[in-house]
Amino acid sequence: MSDTIQPSDHGFGGFISQRSQQRLLDALRAKGIKNERVLEALANVPRHEFVEEALRSRAYEDTALPIGYQQTISQPYVVALMTQLVLTGRERLKHVLEIGTGSGFQTAVLSRVSARVFSIERIGALAERAFRQLEGLGIENVSLRHGDGTNGWSAKGPFDAIMLTAAPNRVPETLFSQLSDQGVLVAPEGNNRQQRLLYWIKQDGIAIRHQSIDVVFVPLKTGQA
Ligand code: SAH
Repeated sequence: MSDTIQPSDHGFGGFISQRSQQRLLDALRAKGIKNERVLEALANVPRHEFVEEALRSRAYEDTALPIGYQQTISQPYVVALMTQLVLTGRERLKHVLEIGTGSGFQTAVLSRVSARVFSIERIGALAERAFRQLEGLGIENVSLRHGDGTNGWSAKGPFDAIMLTAAPNRVPETLFSQLSDQGVLVAPEGNNRQQRLLYWIKQDGIAIRHQSIDVVFVPLKTGQA
């Protein structure tokens, strides 16, 4: 397989954004993102479209950025790592549930490795913005819902992957019941200051827990806003 993945030509300063995106992809590779499908997904989602104008020049830095409403668009490395984790042992996913749509960036990345993505966001204004954004990019295999994702989306399950992009103290039990066999659930778990990225692989009805890196996410909150 080739060593470089060509970023898509997506306007915004043309070559400048393409070059900075390529540098980001190289950095992700150097940090241990080996899954070519994940790198290709990131190469084809223009992150600068998911941040406000004033932050566009920083869109391809490997850092989280504010998206308003005290929320952030996740760090590209963490998006790549979580996507790599949910793919564990599989080439593509069928139904994926994401809790915490935020900007919709992670949703768009997931949409490139899944048949269908279901994503829930508790802040109405963000849900609406993400909807417009994904629609504008022509992404059609995503269903968004404005609401509290704490209890998942049982009507659409079971899911072969569930991803939380906001941190609970403990992942709610009910989410595991919406995970299919061989399914992977990935989530940051912890308090405001200290969180660990964890993932569970469900085998014969039992979810086995694995630990990944320390992370910083916004908290998972109940109710909608
Ligand atoms: N993946 C997103 C991350 C956004 S930050 C991105 O890269 O842009 C996490 C998001 O989770 C925030 O938008 C926050 O409002 C949302 N959130 C927090 N608790 C939630 C809940 N119970 N249900 C749904 N969304 C929630």
